[in-house]
Amino acid sequence: MDPFGRTIDYLRISVTDRCNERCLYCMPEGYKGWAKKADHLSASEIIRIVEASCALGFRKFRLTGGEPLLRHDIEEISAGIWALPGVQTLGVSTNGLRLAKHAQGLRQAGVRSLNISLDALSPEVYRGVTGGNVAEVLRGIDAACAAQFEVIKLNCVLMRGVNEDELWPLVQFAAERKMLVRFIELMPVSSAGVLAEERFFSVQDAMQLLSKHDTLHAIPDYRPGNGPARYYEMAGSKARVGFIGALTTPDFCGTCNKLRLTSDGKLRPCLGRHGELDLLPALRGEGDLQSTILEAIRNKPENHEFAECYEPGRPMTAIGG
Ligand code: SAM
Ligand code: SF4
Repeated sequence: MDPFGRTIDYLRISVTDRCNERCLYCMPEGYKGWAKKADHLSASEIIRIVEASCALGFRKFRLTGGEPLLRHDIEEISAGIWALPGVQTLGVSTNGLRLAKHAQGLRQAGVRSLNISLDALSPEVYRGVTGGNVAEVLRGIDAACAAQFEVIKLNCVLMRGVNEDELWPLVQFAAERKMLVRFIELMPVSSAGVLAEERFFSVQDAMQLLSKHDTLHAIPDYRPGNGPARYYEMAGSKARVGFIGALTTPDFCGTCNKLRLTSDGKLRPCLGRHGELDLLPALRGEGDLQSTILEAIRNKPENHEFAECYEPGRPMTAIGG
């Protein structure tokens, strides 16, 4: 338990800060601050950290980044984690560009759930937001369906004037494939500028927009995959749609259950606060991994500072989304 009575049993692991997309809200323009290769945790170091956290009661793990499928050893990392006693769930978050190649291997390595970013179905809008080719992502989604993951969620970041027209098509796309779709409020994790008032589109705005197409019914106790989304079911299609409103949902942090591990070996108790604890001395020297993890839990703040003029220190790709 952390100081606020929350059970912390979920670790999100950034396996790289590199990415093959350039999302408007995630990667500052012209960003060159990549971590040095030598600072990236190796597969065996990541597995040792998961083993130590399992001994402290962590049960849920997600590999993210940057783009985790850029790591050539992503299947090795997944299989190593899945083989550890105590691991109950293992997920991967990906932009989907390399998923067609990796879906089957990840599933065989023990990955149960996938979160796939998809901010738009329109190729033009998708390219404008991410710089990438949506056709490759759609091929990745087909491969993920064929590989039979237990849960597949599509993630869409809400941006006024950019992708509002994409929301209803995304709900229909997800419903046809029996996937969940989640709409995420912009957070100032890479540059405070992304929250410019004309760009911010709240989860309430998104619900209002979708309710013009179909009625939304809250499903209060539905929490697939341990994330922070609040879910609704669409009356007509029965599509299940999640909303992650970090900026506008009261008591958003009250159910937070996670720590983040950065690709260069820092434990981050909260995405929306700067504090980090360095695991490298314990990993590469004499220290004790478990006591550093416990200290990170003791340091978990009650809530984020996004609404208090939070100035991001390093981008989301480095912290791990
Ligand atoms: N590259 C993978 C991907 O895009 O899914 C994994 C890493 S990415 C940082 C993880 C998630 O963070 C994605 O769903 C992305 O949309 C979300 N994200 C990144 N920057 C964000 C921001 N400023 N506000 C809200 N969500 C953000
Ligand atoms: Fe890369 Fe994911 Fe960030 Fe987009 S959201 S720049 S795909 S890490």
